Amino acid sequence: MAKHWSEPVTTALRADGQNVADLDTSATPGFTGDKRRGKELLAERGQVLSDLQEKLFAHGRTGGHRSVLLVLQGMDTAGKGGIVRHVIGSVDPQGVDHASFGVPTEEELQHDFLWRIRKRLPAHGQIGVFDRSHYEDVLVVRVHELVPQSEWEPRYDLINAFEREVADTGTVIVKVAMFVSLDEQKRRLRERLERPDKYWKFNPSDISERAYWPEYQKAYQDLLARTNTEYAPWYVLPADHKWYARLAVTELLIDALSTLDLDWPPADFDVDEQLRRLDES
Ligand code: ADP
Repeated sequence: MAKHWSEPVTTALRADGQNVADLDTSATPGFTGDKRRGKELLAERGQVLSDLQEKLFAHGRTGGHRSVLLVLQGMDTAGKGGIVRHVIGSVDPQGVDHASFGVPTEEELQHDFLWRIRKRLPAHGQIGVFDRSHYEDVLVVRVHELVPQSEWEPRYDLINAFEREVADTGTVIVKVAMFVSLDEQKRRLRERLERPDKYWKFNPSDISERAYWPEYQKAYQDLLARTNTEYAPWYVLPADHKWYARLAVTELLIDALSTLDLDWPPADFDVDEQLRRLDES
């Protein structure tokens, strides 16, 4: 068990039928420390994550076929960007493939909803990060009825089949749904309007979307119930405390990489002979 956790993060956060509308978004499940301790630990555990990631990268470079895919979902201001900067930022950028999915382009709309997703799956040895994902197609698309129910409803099963296929090819999938309270979202949006260095993050439609909060909660509830599988589990992350969210995702990634149980690739040359040659050079 990681230091200062009363239970593994994978059990503390695993989706298990929680009611999304009742979630305490300021909770810090499983963590026994405070903010100061959490921040200290983030640096320490970021190093552990970085070492594991290097092993995965080396594995990919030497013919290995494993990879990790982190799927981040959350309402605006939930902190997805902070996870990318502070968690993923602690590992070597050449081992990370970051993909964000916004409003589909004309071309993307001409294909099935998984088309653009497939193209961004992580290569062997990589940690792929989806900043939003195919789940938008059962979230914003459902809430705003961008396609009829007869079209979005089958997507849950299609997503499960797709993720099974991805997992079967050697990718460990970790899905994180980040939740902030409506009040916390208001505070974060206000900050974006009060600080010139944050204007660029503000989008007037973020305020309009607040009116759809209950519909989004319902869509999240269904998504968690219908796509929470053994091969692609969902973790429900209370995200009012940014330090906790970042630490928890670090631990989730450490866990995912540890399950791969990778070793450093053995030398494919005679080490003694190369040392001798080096001495003589
Ligand atoms: P972010 O808000 O994450 O910083 P963007 O400004 O690019 O990033 O916004 C992404 C927007 O694209 C979100 O409002 C999201 O709901 C929307 N979006 C993502 N996928 C889809 C989709 N499949 N259909 C419609 N809208 C989508």
